[in-house]
Amino acid sequence: MTTLSPQRTIAELKELRANTANEHGAQRIAFTPIWVETREWLKRKLAELPVETHVDAAGNLWSTLRGASDKAVLIGGHMDSVPNGGWLDGCLNVLAGLEVLRRIDAGYDHRPPVTVRLVDWADEEGARFGKSLFGSSACSGNLDLAEARGLVDRDGVTLPAALKNVGIDIERVKDSHVELKDAAAYCELHIEQGPVLLDLDLPLGVVLGTFGVERHAITFHGQAAHSGSTPMNRRKDAFLAAAKLSPEIYRIAETHGGVGTIGSCTTKPGIVTSVVEDCRITLDQRHLDAPALARCYADAKAASERFAKDGGVTVEWNRLWSIEPVLFDPKLIQFCDEAIVETCGRSHRLPSGPLHDAAEVARAGVPTIMMFVQSLHGISHNKIEDTKEEHLDLCVRAFDRLVEKTLRSVAAAIA
Ligand SMILES: [Zn+2]
Repeated sequence: MTTLSPQRTIAELKELRANTANEHGAQRIAFTPIWVETREWLKRKLAELPVETHVDAAGNLWSTLRGASDKAVLIGGHMDSVPNGGWLDGCLNVLAGLEVLRRIDAGYDHRPPVTVRLVDWADEEGARFGKSLFGSSACSGNLDLAEARGLVDRDGVTLPAALKNVGIDIERVKDSHVELKDAAAYCELHIEQGPVLLDLDLPLGVVLGTFGVERHAITFHGQAAHSGSTPMNRRKDAFLAAAKLSPEIYRIAETHGGVGTIGSCTTKPGIVTSVVEDCRITLDQRHLDAPALARCYADAKAASERFAKDGGVTVEWNRLWSIEPVLFDPKLIQFCDEAIVETCGRSHRLPSGPLHDAAEVARAGVPTIMMFVQSLHGISHNKIEDTKEEHLDLCVRAFDRLVEKTLRSVAAAIA
């Protein structure tokens, strides 16, 4: 009989690091030879279990432990990494899921009441083609196929060509949706990648959902004028209006919650001897609550128009990208809270700033939950990414409890 062994997960994470990282960090970039080798390594581990394993039309790897019912609890993660990535992002989810699968297989004598499936999503990071959540968005149906066809990496290789190289036909990737047919719930463990749990001195947290995003380019148009001959009261300074927006974005986040970032600023003519004629900034606003996000956006827009008017310049907004907040399932949030409290005494609920595969699964209508484990330094996508081993141990235990509660709930709903 196999009991849950979080230490085995930690040992496997180290084995993976030894196999797929160099002195700069993890190198498991999707669709590359190291990623293919990583998959083979994972498949060898899965082959020790009575599971059926296959790759779907989008390149996602599914491993199925058949239960008494076809209704399935899904456990997911991603083995791919960014170049020079950390040792936990994505692969912790899969390897903890593997350990939970082993425990369920043994604990239920190879026949759990419902089916349990482990999925390794393809190209979560989007490191090579600049588009994240490839496999999960193909599966959910949200992938923009026209855009995907046109993606090219730094060496001029197109995404369709890179996919063909690993046996995937871009025109068929959305056929992957069939995998969600009997999905009753989706559970994902992930490192937090931020400092919230660290600052609270808590090992684990329940993720409420992923932030909605409003991303815009804002351009102020003024007038170029000689920096020596133009009196201050005669200027139409595009930079001044843009600059006033910066403290305003902080005030808006303070008022409505969420986060706001002016991430870039370019000026024209951009020379030391001229008043700025055009100033283009980008604004990224995120919130878990859709109406609050709408207020953040509306307030920023109104403020920009006010500052433009005050300075005798005009302002123009262009939406670069936006996505609605994705909320996780209330019952699964409850289970996750309980699992964490039972494992380490205290839980905390927090939103996720980054998007995850879980958001795509939730958008496809599958009840979804994520659990976060504390990140040291609050940092990720870097070789210094780390989590205390005692916290890794705890997260595997708590995640196992979460999956067990979910499995029992799905089984009870069928009975
Ligand atoms: Zn990740």
